[in-house]
Amino acid sequence: MIKTGLIDPHMHTVFLSWRDLTYLAEAGYEAVVTLAYTPYVPSHPASLEDHFTHLEAEVARLKSLGLRGVVSVGLHPRCVKPEHASAQLEVVRKWLPKAQVLGEVGIENPDSNLEAEVLRAQLTMAKEADLTAVIHTSRNRKREALKVIINAVKESGIKPENVIIDHLTPEPALLNEVIELGAWAGITIQPGKASVQDLEYLIESVPDALSHVVVNSDAGRDPSNPLAVAETYEALVRKGYVTEAYRLTSMNPKEAIKPLST
Ligand SMILES: [Zn+2]
Repeated sequence: MIKTGLIDPHMHTVFLSWRDLTYLAEAGYEAVVTLAYTPYVPSHPASLEDHFTHLEAEVARLKSLGLRGVVSVGLHPRCVKPEHASAQLEVVRKWLPKAQVLGEVGIENPDSNLEAEVLRAQLTMAKEADLTAVIHTSRNRKREALKVIINAVKESGIKPENVIIDHLTPEPALLNEVIELGAWAGITIQPGKASVQDLEYLIESVPDALSHVVVNSDAGRDPSNPLAVAETYEALVRKGYVTEAYRLTSMNPKEAIKPLST
């Protein structure tokens, strides 16, 4: 099976081993977006800078295997330290010119005004820098989180086509809300999130939505499969969904992630 040009628009490669990255290169990946996330709340805003330095260095590690790394910086909602939020945002502002994508940003607690504010501020920065933003939705209370995100996208003025709203559950109604906004709908193939069977269901039930969907692995620290995009491609092709497989794993993410579309 020929696989080239695969893109994973949501990874945290700093948690992956050299061997994992070798597998990606061998499987025909063209590019991966490596997003910011620390599995702890940084004790000081400077710790966030250290993480961004690490992400910047990832490009060389990926390049040595023939993979294109798209570097992203951003403040994940789980990493917000309330008393440092403004200073943390200043770190993002300082680093954004060196990045190609804003992320991972998003909403973990739909009731938190601070999270909504932090998201809105970062989306405004992405708008000013004309960057794509990758937005996390919480595992629980997806619908409420999506509502807060849609408001933040509208209030920030970022172009919806520069936004990927990620980790959506495979519900046509949820997908349609994102597509109506004009944004990209991200489906994460990961234990507890979504599966290839879910994608087959979407292909059959809302075929028109597919032109606005991207798939990703969210591979990083938590249970995940770094090769999820490649395996999704293969599984869909085996089922006869050849065009759809290409669209979801290569064509759409190339269009969604600005530096890859030019
Ligand atoms: Zn993630």
